[in-house]
Amino acid sequence: MDYDVVIAGAGPVGLLLACELRLAGISVLVFEKLANPNLPIKDGPVGARALNIPSIEVFYRRGLLPALKKGALKWIDMSMSGEGVEAAERGVAANYSDNSDPELFGRGPAAAYGVITTQALETLLSERAAELKAEIRRGAGLTAFSADDSGVTVYAGETQVRSGWLVGCDGGRSTVRKLAGFEFPGTDPKVCGYSATVEFADPEKLSSGWVRTARGAYVNGPMPGRILTVEFDGPPKDRDASITLEELQTSLRRVSGTDATLTAVHAATRWTDNARQASTYRLGRVLLAGDAAHVFAPIGGEGLNLGIGDAVNLGWKLAATVNRWAPETLLDTYTTERHPIGAWALNWATAQVALMAPRHHRRARVSVLADLIGGGGRAKSLAKRISGVWQRYDLPGDHPLVGRSAPDLEFEDGTKLGEHCRDGSALLYDFVDDARISGLGARWRGRLRIITLRLKKNSDLTALFVRPDGFVAWAANGPPDLNRAASALSTWLGNSE
Ligand SMILES: Cc1cc2nc3c(=O)[nH]c(=O)nc-3n(C[C@H](O)[C@H](O)[C@H](O)COP(=O)(O)OP(=O)(O)OC[C@H]3O[C@@H](n4cnc5c(N)ncnc54)[C@H](O)[C@@H]3O)c2cc1C
Repeated sequence: MDYDVVIAGAGPVGLLLACELRLAGISVLVFEKLANPNLPIKDGPVGARALNIPSIEVFYRRGLLPALKKGALKWIDMSMSGEGVEAAERGVAANYSDNSDPELFGRGPAAAYGVITTQALETLLSERAAELKAEIRRGAGLTAFSADDSGVTVYAGETQVRSGWLVGCDGGRSTVRKLAGFEFPGTDPKVCGYSATVEFADPEKLSSGWVRTARGAYVNGPMPGRILTVEFDGPPKDRDASITLEELQTSLRRVSGTDATLTAVHAATRWTDNARQASTYRLGRVLLAGDAAHVFAPIGGEGLNLGIGDAVNLGWKLAATVNRWAPETLLDTYTTERHPIGAWALNWATAQVALMAPRHHRRARVSVLADLIGGGGRAKSLAKRISGVWQRYDLPGDHPLVGRSAPDLEFEDGTKLGEHCRDGSALLYDFVDDARISGLGARWRGRLRIITLRLKKNSDLTALFVRPDGFVAWAANGPPDLNRAASALSTWLGNSE
């Protein structure tokens, strides 16, 4: 083998996956079709992306939070109070300090909302991947591959490499997905949307914020010159044609019912509500992650967040499989755990597009929905959906933390759980100095780190097993049930020595 894993696509998902694999010592080659990552080649400065709490948690745990914040266009710390924080933001912050709710409990510095451009995010992840010595070949798109029982031969034009595994992180129109023959069921596009950064002759002609009209919807802002339009007369005729000022202006005029005039277009992208999801994320030695596995309208800002979750879920499982200690079924849990979250996001985006549709029933639908979500508890539940904290995996075990992202527990030595996750190890915590817990963990030596530390605050928690992706796979209140702990350790880390 030339490499353990070849990844097609150095978008945010491919780059993050490369970092996760390198943390586990796996050799990785990333083929990227585009030659230069730093130019506004894809969608220019219009490519601002909102990051939710689970995504920010990933950067926090891998020690990348300061760099993420530095590169962000906007950052709202949910724990923030005082001046400069709008009332609505403070209301959301209050929700995130509700420690009685396991979905909200202990998100630490990840309880935030960030907006970052795709360029800034890709630069950050490229630098991290280079630091971790992942090999990235740019200007080298995957063109073909053939997979057999022992590996995959991958071609990028004239170049040929042999690898154990291939992961398609090559976006919504994934070559890997098509060549491998993954089923990609879903619905065809019905809308045409534009997101753009522009200059106006007469900005006062447009209302600011979200505006629903008889022809669709438009958004003016939040930054000056940022616009979005959605029309419901069918998908664009040619998604790849470059976007002209006239095309954008026609759409804006049609949808807003004004004669607003554009004087310049700095960057623009065209999108649709094509909604599809691969029915499995793995076919033998070929896997999919990010947009390659699921596409839907960008309304609701879920696609990137979903892809970040895919990469972190897949990374350690694929590494364990390459390192030959993974239980046979481990890699299949990637689809089992991530597919339902992807299906939810797809539905969420589709429902939002439906609510924007300019039919005469819409006003009633929107007002009924607004009424339904208006109450305190329901608004909180909606906020939890949007922020991603509701996400959990259906893992064996009945402790309320099992299947959830681990809380950012604080310890007597001043450290926090998130800070222990930098190297991507599985963690077995013993909070009560019980030699039986470390004795048990020692049987999986080399596959997990045992941490014996007292919690800073009084708690019933005595022990916790956290997978490399930060999800709790076993927890105990009071005397730990070591049989259950052993069963969780073998489920996720394979047979003990
Ligand atoms: C207008 C708009 C706004 C959005 N806003 C948000 C938001 O606020 N929040 C959010 O979570 N998501 C948002 N999204 C979605 C988000 O951008 C995508 O989900 C995310 O970029 C997917 O990342 P990815 O790495 O899977 O794919 P991509 O970012 O598409 O990267 C794929 C990479 O693969 C490369 N590639 C393609 N073919 C090949 C090949 N054959 N060989 C090698 N390389 C190849 C491409 O050049 C590219 O670099 C938005 C999308 C749009 C269009």
